[in-house]
Amino acid sequence: MATSDPGNDGRIRCALCNELSVIRLRDRNRQLCAEHFAADLSERVRETITSHAMIAPGDRIAVAFSGGKDSTALLLLLRDLVTASDDITLVAITVDEGIAGYRSDTIRSAESLAEELGIEQVIVSFSGLFGKDLDAILESQKERACSICGILRRKALLSAAQAAGATKIATGHNLDDEAQSVLMNALRGDLARLVRDSSSRSGDCFIPRIKPLKDISEKEIAVFLMARGRFPELPECPYTRYALRAEIRSRLSSLEYRHPGTMKRLVSGKERLTSVLDGIPLGGAINRCRECGEPCSGTVCQTCQLIASLL
Ligand code: SF4
Ligand code: ZN
Repeated sequence: MATSDPGNDGRIRCALCNELSVIRLRDRNRQLCAEHFAADLSERVRETITSHAMIAPGDRIAVAFSGGKDSTALLLLLRDLVTASDDITLVAITVDEGIAGYRSDTIRSAESLAEELGIEQVIVSFSGLFGKDLDAILESQKERACSICGILRRKALLSAAQAAGATKIATGHNLDDEAQSVLMNALRGDLARLVRDSSSRSGDCFIPRIKPLKDISEKEIAVFLMARGRFPELPECPYTRYALRAEIRSRLSSLEYRHPGTMKRLVSGKERLTSVLDGIPLGGAINRCRECGEPCSGTVCQTCQLIASLL
């Protein structure tokens, strides 16, 4: 039965087989069962990787692997891809920021999945790298939690990826994350960051970053994980409530629900703007940081300034 019509029992069936549907792909008006949806999503990720030339033969990919939903889906999908290509290797990098009541659970979950999949894993901690864990760093500045955490985590990930000899860093950013970033940068009036292509030209100049899940929504990732029988139920970071992103996330989700396609339109609008403005310097001249060599607008980058302030 090749139909999405309800069967005799009134329940919606997959368009490709007789199994019950688990999701309706609104943009294609199609219902799919767990197995066909997992295969469809996997194929779309493969197309994203191919069309953006994200991975090349011989790559050693450092996968930012927190053990949460996005990075779990990313690791599973990349592992399938790598199984089919024996000249690509994966190394899972897990960053322990040092957040009481939260991070130890996600690290345990990350360790057991990496071990089960037979993927090499490296765990790096803020206390080992920067001399303090995040809880101690944030003692008197909790409202800056996510911006400080983001800067230090990026540095930790980059150092671990360099030490592991990686040629690419893969992160689990999904469509919702990308759309939230567009809106956050627009609300902050940060045009340079709004149009910057974080996956190639900026930031970690030593190792290119790739985002294979950038076209997949958060909801699709959740359904994919359920279809694969892996759905990490983990606690939420206690600092989430201080984040502008949390507010944007909830508003954008309700906009997407009422106006399907909002997130895709936001991200593709940003991508068009990025290509139109290609080559135009928006954030002033780009120098190299005196301490670490990363691109920055002054003489010392934001990360090195923050690290120096912690010592
Ligand atoms: Fe770090 Fe903020 Fe994410 Fe918590 S919610 S892990 S503080 S970025
Ligand atoms: Zn099916």
